[in-house]
Amino acid sequence: MILDLFKLENKVAIVTGANTGLGQGICVALAQAGAKVCGVARRSCAETKALIEANNGEFTEIIADLSSTSPINEIIAQAKNAYGKIDILVNNAGIISREDAINVTEEDWDRVIDINEKVVFFLSQAVAKEFIAQGNGGKIVNICSMLSYQGGIRVPAYTASKSAVLGLTRALANEWAAHNINVNGIAPGYMATNNTTQLRQDNQRSEQILERIPAGRWGTPDDLMGAVIYLSSEASNYVNGFTLAVDGGWLAR
Ligand code: NAP
Repeated sequence: MILDLFKLENKVAIVTGANTGLGQGICVALAQAGAKVCGVARRSCAETKALIEANNGEFTEIIADLSSTSPINEIIAQAKNAYGKIDILVNNAGIISREDAINVTEEDWDRVIDINEKVVFFLSQAVAKEFIAQGNGGKIVNICSMLSYQGGIRVPAYTASKSAVLGLTRALANEWAAHNINVNGIAPGYMATNNTTQLRQDNQRSEQILERIPAGRWGTPDDLMGAVIYLSSEASNYVNGFTLAVDGGWLAR
């Protein structure tokens, strides 16, 4: 039956940036669909764990700093140690740095690109090697942005990184589809999380943004749940290299 295709029972998911915001919502959604979730974060995921366990879900915390590729092997090892295999990777962890382009330093640039782009590639590569060795395919979902499509203002490194992730989603999908690995993306619109605190505190920018969203509200982590389950499940087996906007209509304007 069609709804069975969305079920994630017996699946194991790794989600980065699992302690808060969109990553926390993604973990809860995957667990509600039946997956066992390994949440990667640089600080405690106690709140995410409690939300999942309240519904009898399974969650394992993996503490790692994703500002470099060095913890990647350990993340894979800990996930396999917890649940024996990996079926889904959601590359969600990311940072934004707001500064006039004219003043961005090389250090700021590298900080954003390393987490948002470089680690996304090498973690995907490491997980894809596991998928290929396991022989059952797998799902990779990359969290992109409106700035995968648009230029933005005062966030040049973020725009570069999120535009790269959209391209990477296509590139990896092409190479790995033959292994039954689906690589797709989700481009959230303007969501009320830590990432947008500064924007939402700027009354003028906040009003301009809200006025342009056809749905008339900022998004929430709950708004991503349907898209994440779709792209992590068998329901999307013939969807490759596509990035789905969940944006209240922002890109349609
Ligand atoms: P958030 O609340 O700031 O979450 C970002 C997550 O990434 C947090 O869990 C954060 O951990 C983690 N992270 C950052 N640096 C890390 C590091 N070095 N090592 C490990 N984890 C690290 O913002 P969010 O909105 O939920 O963002 C999630 C993703 O959605 C990001 O990729 C973001 O770019 C993207 N996105 C957000 C929006 C939006 O409007 N909010 C729109 C489009 C795309 P800490 O809590 O420890 O910092």
